[in-house]
Amino acid sequence: MIRIVRGNEPASLMPVRDAQLSILRTLGHAPNSRDIEGYRVVADGLWRAQHYKCCYCERKIMKAYHDVEHYRPKASADRRPGSLLTHGYWWLAFTWNNLLFACPSCNRSGKNDRFPLDHGSIPIMGEELPPGGEIPLLLDPGSSINPVEHIQFVLKSVGPKGSPKHWWAQPRNRSRFGHTTIDVCALNCDELRELRSDYFETTIAPKVKALNEALATAQRELIQREYDRALELFNPRLPNVAFAYDALCSSIPSAKLKYAIQMRWPLPKQVGL
Ligand SMILES: [Zn+2]
Repeated sequence: MIRIVRGNEPASLMPVRDAQLSILRTLGHAPNSRDIEGYRVVADGLWRAQHYKCCYCERKIMKAYHDVEHYRPKASADRRPGSLLTHGYWWLAFTWNNLLFACPSCNRSGKNDRFPLDHGSIPIMGEELPPGGEIPLLLDPGSSINPVEHIQFVLKSVGPKGSPKHWWAQPRNRSRFGHTTIDVCALNCDELRELRSDYFETTIAPKVKALNEALATAQRELIQREYDRALELFNPRLPNVAFAYDALCSSIPSAKLKYAIQMRWPLPKQVGL
């Protein structure tokens, strides 16, 4: 997961918001997911702005499967452990800062309506604007917080002795936000671990090999060239940018680069407009 900058709200959203909220306000009951419609008007724009990547797992998704993700769930919300209240944030269902593009796996089978709040949080009600008294434990890729500082990918064996090694997501520096986000988005599911292994072998490992060979020559220009090529993995248009950062850091420590060319691995930049 890397930061997402959405850019300005598209002009198509405001008329939908105005029309739909006026309907929802007169329903006479708490809106359910079938009552809340029209927000998909921004689906294509979000999909393109995020370079076709899921906001949570950074895999590329076909247009036919793109979902509009509500960071604060629209119809009902599981806020445990911070609150047992379950009302949805229906009034934010058409709010640009609450909308993201997510893959079906993260949105429907992973996150769904989970929106964990920290202990001591006071959920916003009615039509209050966030954050109010809420302390969300789920990282918001659309916020100013860099998710890379909270989630780390580590190659390790988990389970019985002799289990094969995989690239696991784990909280960086014991981040509670990283811990919760990994759990809510199921970033360690079998499928994502397999995709990360494949991406490492096919895309990252060849760049690591070339840079290691350049380092062995001690030729500065050669090292710089292969370093620049490895940095291409941080292009926000590519999948798995956050993973690539940790895979490179653990394969070739920044200290080695600093010694050779006075460079290090920079934190990946944001994706978006
Ligand atoms: Zn995803």
